[in-house]
Amino acid sequence: MDTDVLIIGSGPAGVSAAYHLRGFHGRVVILERLSTGMFRRYHSVCGEAVSDRMFERAGIEPMAVVARVDRIRISYPGDASIEIPVSGSIVDRPALLEELRSMSCAEVVRGTALSVCRVGDRFDVDTTAGHIVCRFLIGADGAHSVVRRDIFGTKLEMLPVVNSLAPGEGDSVLDFEVGTHQGFYSWRFPSREGLVSVGSPKGGEVPKDVVATGARHLPFGGVPETVSGNAMIIGDAAGLANALCYGGIGIGMVSGRKAAEALMARDLGIYSKWCRTSRLLDPHFMEAHRQYSRWTDDDIRGAMRPFRSGYSIPKGFLAILRHPRYANVYFATWLAFRIGW
Ligand SMILES: Cc1cc2nc3c(=O)[nH]c(=O)nc-3n(C[C@H](O)[C@H](O)[C@H](O)COP(=O)(O)OP(=O)(O)OC[C@H]3O[C@@H](n4cnc5c(N)ncnc54)[C@H](O)[C@@H]3O)c2cc1C
Repeated sequence: MDTDVLIIGSGPAGVSAAYHLRGFHGRVVILERLSTGMFRRYHSVCGEAVSDRMFERAGIEPMAVVARVDRIRISYPGDASIEIPVSGSIVDRPALLEELRSMSCAEVVRGTALSVCRVGDRFDVDTTAGHIVCRFLIGADGAHSVVRRDIFGTKLEMLPVVNSLAPGEGDSVLDFEVGTHQGFYSWRFPSREGLVSVGSPKGGEVPKDVVATGARHLPFGGVPETVSGNAMIIGDAAGLANALCYGGIGIGMVSGRKAAEALMARDLGIYSKWCRTSRLLDPHFMEAHRQYSRWTDDDIRGAMRPFRSGYSIPKGFLAILRHPRYANVYFATWLAFRIGW
């Protein structure tokens, strides 16, 4: 098969790229390894929370919404807690992906990319469905990206994460409990009717009465380059998820949009520049993640003492004055939960 654009992977990043390539004059093919049932299962292992702001940045109307959220509550050891007003949705992620894909003009080929090699100014992709040759290649193939491995040669930091669906009534709050797993946290989100979504990095507690559970690797920390010749990597393939709140659906969709716009303008440097300069990909998030992951519950208790009776912006400034060495953690955490999901 010969195509102008090949997108490997039809997760949030890949379908967003396909959706934004609707005006492209040429053939666009999406290669996806999973059949419908497996695809649904894979993409349901997720908290499925996306902010309105991210949908807006991605140029996509919120769809397949199953619940609305208006607050994030972060609880710390020592009874401190922070509440941040937000505006977002819990989505039926497989349904969202299906809808976006159907609105794109891309052809879908079922098959797994096994290896990719550059041949002159084209790419030859060896897949279980045969060879595909393309002029532009978009690697949207997630954490264990073949495009990142074969074209960019970079590795990413990975966090194994578990997500389960359990019976329960969620309200409109995204609940995070920090310190349950040495500097990391567990979460509890509303989900489909009568269910809540609970998760944590592997090793955290899994509720006993779960109706479904799954584990996946979450990569973050970014890569030095996201463009190489006519190839781009987007979403988890490029480690774009937020290292503090683990939001990766929104940024995946935004990166898909940016990659598509660069391709339409025939200047992939636009995408590379966006990756280097976007506030959504600020290196301070990763720095704060590293600080957090070295902390014990006692460290967290000390750092969050100023917020024992709740959070306000003046209290945030006072906390920075009292503990200047925690300034990056305070600021990056606040920013991550506001704009990072
Ligand atoms: C437990 C958990 C909970 C999470 N909760 C949230 C949340 O609440 N909100 C949020 O914003 N983010 C959340 N995330 C992060 C989010 O799921 C990811 O960052 C996001 O899915 C990245 O999208 P993507 O399209 O880059 O990759 P993926 O969603 O991984 O999609 C990659 C696609 O490529 C296909 N593929 C992979 N390899 C190949 C190959 N070789 N050939 C062909 N196809 C291939 C896969 O089958 C898949 O369909 C969570 C992650 C985990 C693990």
